[in-house]
Amino acid sequence: MATDLRLPTDRIVRPDKDRFLDEENPFEAMMSRFDRAAELLDLEPGLYKVLRHPEKQITVSIPVMMDNGEVEVFIGHRVLYNTSRGPAKGGIRFDMNVSIEEVKALAAWMTWKCAVVNLPFGGAKGGVVCDPLKMSAGELERLTRRYTAGIIATLGPDSDVPAPDVNTNERVMAWVMDTYSMRMGHTVTAVVTGKPIEMGGSLGRREATGRGCMIVTKEALKHLGMSTQGTTVAVQGFGNVGSVAAQLLSREGCKIVAISDRTGGYYNKNGVDIDAAIKHVQRVRSLEGFTGGDQISNEELLESPVDVLLPAALENVITSKNAGKIKAKMICEGANGPTSAGADSILDEKGIFVVPDILANAGGVTVSYFEWVQDRGGYFWTEETVNNRLTEIMCNSFAAVLQLAKQHKVNMRTAAYMLSISRVATVHRLRGIYA
Ligand code: GLU
Repeated sequence: MATDLRLPTDRIVRPDKDRFLDEENPFEAMMSRFDRAAELLDLEPGLYKVLRHPEKQITVSIPVMMDNGEVEVFIGHRVLYNTSRGPAKGGIRFDMNVSIEEVKALAAWMTWKCAVVNLPFGGAKGGVVCDPLKMSAGELERLTRRYTAGIIATLGPDSDVPAPDVNTNERVMAWVMDTYSMRMGHTVTAVVTGKPIEMGGSLGRREATGRGCMIVTKEALKHLGMSTQGTTVAVQGFGNVGSVAAQLLSREGCKIVAISDRTGGYYNKNGVDIDAAIKHVQRVRSLEGFTGGDQISNEELLESPVDVLLPAALENVITSKNAGKIKAKMICEGANGPTSAGADSILDEKGIFVVPDILANAGGVTVSYFEWVQDRGGYFWTEETVNNRLTEIMCNSFAAVLQLAKQHKVNMRTAAYMLSISRVATVHRLRGIYA
């Protein structure tokens, strides 16, 4: 029989409920959404406390011999937020803005994300404070290998499975996999996902997050009674997620009128040629100097008059400061945490339909799951099979969240949190507390 963690007279006690919310702090942004969903679910106090804490946090110093012969020390984190449903899953990012608060939030989001699409995974995240764009390939390799060695105790196909995230890619995953395999004494492909195809990667993984965004955007447009034909889209961020989402949405008939990256934005009312923009980025590593549109700022892009806004870069780009100026009818959150908690109610008041990050960008981890399954089975699928199964999971998950949103008269974000928290909570009740 399942352990009942609920005490009949207990009420949820939130010690910091009325505390001032730091809008910029991603962990608080995550927590305030969690609190709202927990309250609607009437989550028992014991579980409420358990789910507010990351299971494990590791911080390591990473000495690296730089090309100039000097030693530099970098700081890296790995947070396993919750592993009740399975091995911890989540990317590793290399970025100057990495902090333990951010990694904690991202690890929690991975937990809810995997649960929303019902993958048998928990959630984790890793990050190293560094500027990879200023580092050579050799420096990045040494950094990656030493960071992997620092967190190796948590890693493993059954315990913690990293993947690419901001500023990391297939090559970085190959180094993680090799470092882990050398330590184990044999090749372990399933210890990371997002690997090169040649060494156990999955077809369709690189495009999966952007493809997932395209799929849920189409579902949302259908729900809103809009067609993809001629629907105007602005995409903020032109990395792996934004560029693929833009390309696939334009193939579906949408008009991508604005794109941007950290160097600036471009607007073209007739539609930006996305294939040309991708070629430009492959050549010069950013959109800088792109001639396919009029230059605009990132702020102007976010506030541009479009049907769909697709933030696909970093956290906190839609906040209480600019949410009131957003003109899009719907937002598809390709990034993790692009909207601050303070912006949610403003977007609701304006009637903007938001497909939240933990649902919208779950395509990446879904195909990571497929990769892990293929590695463990030693049998690989066609790209068509991968894409069909991804479409099925994304459409079913979108429908499940929408149904819950209607049932409880809440927005899609709250419904997605409710669905995922209830799935994680169920497993905790069944497993009970180990003592
Ligand atoms: N970094 C991606 C995300 O935030 C993918 C994680 C994974 O595949 O494990 O969802």
